[in-house]
Amino acid sequence: MYMTDENMDEEIPSEFQTETPCPSCGEKLYFIFYRTKVSYEEAVEIETFFCKKCLYKSSQIRPLEKETPKKLVLEIRNYDDLRTILYRSPEAKIEIPELEAEIEPGEISSGEITTIEGILTRLLEKLDLFDEEDVDLESLNRVKSHIQAIINGSGEHFTFVMDDPLGKSRINSSRVIILHKSED
Ligand SMILES: [Zn+2]
Repeated sequence: MYMTDENMDEEIPSEFQTETPCPSCGEKLYFIFYRTKVSYEEAVEIETFFCKKCLYKSSQIRPLEKETPKKLVLEIRNYDDLRTILYRSPEAKIEIPELEAEIEPGEISSGEITTIEGILTRLLEKLDLFDEEDVDLESLNRVKSHIQAIINGSGEHFTFVMDDPLGKSRINSSRVIILHKSED
């Protein structure tokens, strides 16, 4: 879908009309593509489908350079820690061992900037979607009230782990522990 020619101009977005109909109004979408640098990520490619008629827009951001795979670990000790800002790359998996909770990378198509609290809230929403017939309702409710208590400021400690094969994720904290994984 996108070119990898190194000589391509990084400044000027290229734009062309596609045969893809706008999901909102049916007009043919325009495709806009460019490379740029943003904070957190180094070089990225931005692809946008854009409808000139109804202004529908859908964007994808892809990282260009691969870094070494790494694992970021932060102990969350209090409410302030919940407000720690993080950047999660599109391939980062999140784990909270104390809650036996995981968020797989497939759920975000592009990177996101959020907070620990934002991740916990997402986790709660995700647990709400579980089919009650497929899980042990009692343990599901236990995990949910546990997460809710943490969001409400119970002060309970837990470990926040972000496992990122792209190595691009960041946690804005001086206490973050970064484990580099050897490539195999
Ligand atoms: Zn449209």
